[in-house]
Amino acid sequence: MAEEYDVIVIGAGTGGYVAAIRAAQLGLKTAVVEKQKALGGTCLLWGCIPTKALLEHAHAFKIAQHAKDWGISLGSAAVTIDMGQVQARKDRVVTGLTKGVEFLFKKNKIDWIKGTARLTGDGGVDVFEGDQRTLRARKEIIVATGSAPRGVPGIEIDRKRIITSDEAIGLREIPKTIVIMGSGAVGVEFASIFNRFGSDVTIVELLPRLVPVEDEAVSAELEKSFRKQGITSHTGARVTAAKAGADAVDVDVLLADGTTKKIQTDYLLVATGRGPVTTGLNAEGVGLQIEKGYIKVDSLFRTSVPGISAVGDVITLGTPGHPQLAHVSSAEGIITAERIAGQESRPINYDHVPGCTYCDPEIGSVGLTEAEAKARGYDVRIGTFPFGILGRAKMAQETDGFVKIVADRKYDELLGIHMIGPRSTELVAEATVALQMESTVEELIRTIHAHPTFAEAVGEAAHATHGAAIHS
Ligand SMILES: Cc1cc2nc3c(=O)[nH]c(=O)nc-3n(C[C@H](O)[C@H](O)[C@H](O)COP(=O)(O)OP(=O)(O)OC[C@H]3O[C@@H](n4cnc5c(N)ncnc54)[C@H](O)[C@@H]3O)c2cc1C
Repeated sequence: MAEEYDVIVIGAGTGGYVAAIRAAQLGLKTAVVEKQKALGGTCLLWGCIPTKALLEHAHAFKIAQHAKDWGISLGSAAVTIDMGQVQARKDRVVTGLTKGVEFLFKKNKIDWIKGTARLTGDGGVDVFEGDQRTLRARKEIIVATGSAPRGVPGIEIDRKRIITSDEAIGLREIPKTIVIMGSGAVGVEFASIFNRFGSDVTIVELLPRLVPVEDEAVSAELEKSFRKQGITSHTGARVTAAKAGADAVDVDVLLADGTTKKIQTDYLLVATGRGPVTTGLNAEGVGLQIEKGYIKVDSLFRTSVPGISAVGDVITLGTPGHPQLAHVSSAEGIITAERIAGQESRPINYDHVPGCTYCDPEIGSVGLTEAEAKARGYDVRIGTFPFGILGRAKMAQETDGFVKIVADRKYDELLGIHMIGPRSTELVAEATVALQMESTVEELIRTIHAHPTFAEAVGEAAHATHGAAIHS
């Protein structure tokens, strides 16, 4: 006899666990099947949280290394970092947060079924590994099985020397050298972490610029800053071969000029993207439409099979580039739970999703890049303001970068705000509200920005868009 729930969620990442909490808040009897030993999925266990914990260590190390600049004397001994302690603290942060999700499950009376699930059709879910159970959803199943690191044909990931982000977050030694394939958010964040810890870092990016989804000006600024920090970037380049030995990897890189560079490195980190996880789910067996491995959904996250929804990294909406981000998966989970509970739901405007990259300097962006706005036919107006002019940036010794506004000349509408520099991952929140409210540049100009703050760069960039920045 199947155990019945209103809603059964498969996967307890940021998509699944948030959907479950919202469903339970709305009075739906909810179960979550999760195969890992802890709740939270990629974000809490392998992604956002461990990487940002390591970046906080890298930042603390940077301050300690420059202690003299701050008038702080640490004596004559060299400033060093203990990776054992770094890893232990990172693990404490992760455990604290996963336990927090467990607490929220108990508070909301959500059953966590510890095992691996597959779909059996007609509302059925079979937990076939772990806590084996037969379940049935009275209202809806939400598939939130997420993503996993994707390899590259011809490069064998041995998880010892040729590694993914899953292994990189747990390294207990500081590599002397590391080559990073891919300069998306994951690649450049690890570049910043290892560079700060003292590794010699080389990035190999297939496309002509770093962080290729960002505005071109942001990519150029990051490349300049990385160069200053001693990070080598090969753009328009490709790893053509990689052979792992016991202590090193031999890597061949085909450079943009057509020559091959041979590099021997301690580690090769493959950070070329993530693919959907549907293995063993019987997705096609129950009739779900699959596109390039992703589960096809409509704008309210309904799959092709009534009674089954899907959210997060595992989905495609049919347009290229569904963002694989924790906050996107959570927003999709909330909308889905509310729809199942009978509330009015509206599709997400993916043009208003903020993206944050926590490299040094940080990147925060929302909306259209200059190139995207032009491609959509807008008569574009640009305003840029450098952080370096601000008093607050000078005090903090963080003067690299700028805020760039992309606006429509005709109606003065804000189309995109892109920033690289100190606290950009926080400042982007203001930009996101502005876009969500469909604000004009004029409204951002009239918004008073406190002094002295980094946020003044946003206000000044708005002034600059009208050709009237006060401080530049
Ligand atoms: C290194 C790294 C850094 C990142 N940093 C950020 C960041 O700073 N900000 C940001 O927004 N995003 C970041 N991300 C992306 C973010 O982690 C993902 O977008 C997010 O976790 C997706 O959530 P999800 O719920 O769709 O899937 P996941 O988090 O992948 O969760 C899916 C869950 O489903 C479980 N599961 C799968 N199949 C089954 C099954 N058959 N039965 C039971 N359980 C199953 C898995 O065990 C997993 O726990 C990062 C990712 C990585 C790898």
